[in-house]
Amino acid sequence: MGLEFRPTEHSRRIFERARSLFPGGVNSPVRAFRAVGGSPPVIASGSGPRITDVDGNSYIDLVASWGPLILGHANSDVVRAVQEAALDGFSFGAPTEREVLLAELITSAMPSIEQLRFVSSGTEATMSALRVARGFTGRERILKFDGGYHGHSDSLLVAAGSGVLTLGAASSAGVPETWASSTLSVPYNDLQSVEDAFHRYPADIAAVIVEPIAGNMGVVPPKPGFLEGIRAITRDYGAVLVFDEVITGFRVGLGGAQERFGIGPDLTCLGKIIGGGLPVGAYGGRRELMGLVSPEGPVYQAGTLSGNPLSMAAGIATLQLLFEPGVYPWLNSLGERLAVGLRGAADAAGVSLQIQRVGSMLTPFFVDQSVRDEQAAKRSDTERYGRFFHALLDRGVYVPPSQFEAWFLSLAHTEPDVDAVIQAVGEAMSEAAKVG
Ligand SMILES: *Cc1c(COP(=O)(O)O)cnc(C)c1O
Repeated sequence: MGLEFRPTEHSRRIFERARSLFPGGVNSPVRAFRAVGGSPPVIASGSGPRITDVDGNSYIDLVASWGPLILGHANSDVVRAVQEAALDGFSFGAPTEREVLLAELITSAMPSIEQLRFVSSGTEATMSALRVARGFTGRERILKFDGGYHGHSDSLLVAAGSGVLTLGAASSAGVPETWASSTLSVPYNDLQSVEDAFHRYPADIAAVIVEPIAGNMGVVPPKPGFLEGIRAITRDYGAVLVFDEVITGFRVGLGGAQERFGIGPDLTCLGKIIGGGLPVGAYGGRRELMGLVSPEGPVYQAGTLSGNPLSMAAGIATLQLLFEPGVYPWLNSLGERLAVGLRGAADAAGVSLQIQRVGSMLTPFFVDQSVRDEQAAKRSDTERYGRFFHALLDRGVYVPPSQFEAWFLSLAHTEPDVDAVIQAVGEAMSEAAKVG
């Protein structure tokens, strides 16, 4: 596949060792390239918009560690902040000023968050937010959306059951059916299904959890009225509305998707960008809800490394730069530039491509109609995406090794970087157009 001019010997050797040590050779599944075939480059370093592998190949990076690196790699302000924090000691398991500073930045950008709790991953954030929702309502069921990803806790590894409004089915082995069946999963952008679920279980649904802009089936924006509708229904039925903004928080604007669409959720989950590339998560919202969390209330939740000083330092330095004027319009203009380039390349190659973008996050779907839900996303030509992916990799452009992920631009990408990506896209698109 592809040109294969890149030296890959060191990557291959190291990945062989990794394969005997880790399932699939990786510590998170999508890194293994199963969806596109081939063996992943082993990364040695990153700087600004680029990463370099152990064979010395350099790539313009549009994965950005799957979202966190909105400033690019090894931003000098973030590096300095982390170095200073490290010199002060790594972890205390005690209150520090840095966690207060980061929390103040977050709450000033997102007014729906009156109080919050830092954790170490997005998975912990969503898991804990649902515990609060269940504790608050005294109800057990959760409603999520097909193709939504909220981390890997048991109640959330659930896909739609076999019929509309049947109970959810575990999407992973090892998840007890009794847990999976307390989660309902309905199609994204389908308000009627949400209404039907509440009609069926009016007093049982503790929370609706939603990515306000879906990013984990590829980028799928909400239809006008979808989020407003969920807000109204949850309010009517006394259920908690949880926005999972682990990707969109500080990505689509300082106030996340909730600011963009003008909708206040009851609880918000954050991660990725707020840790600047170090491990972090957070959940927060109305004081009435967060007051239930231990030690103030009966909902238990704790973490040895929660509010870790290095993560807090990286997050503070990252958000401080994002608070500067003009950041989000600029990111949007880069996103638009890339989308225009992708469109031109697809048209020139006669390839059906739907480019779905919100600001600096986008997915080019190899389909002929706009994608509104998971079922539509799954119609995309993933083999073509695989050829496109490898052709890009061979040309020094690193995009997600799966059709169903978001591409991310950062403040480290320049217009010439984007133009270099577009150049590679043009060539890769004609390769992808060839019948495999
Ligand atoms: C990445 C992600 C998570 C999980 O975060 P981790 O830090 O990987 O546990 C949860 N929700 C969304 C929307 C995500 O994109």
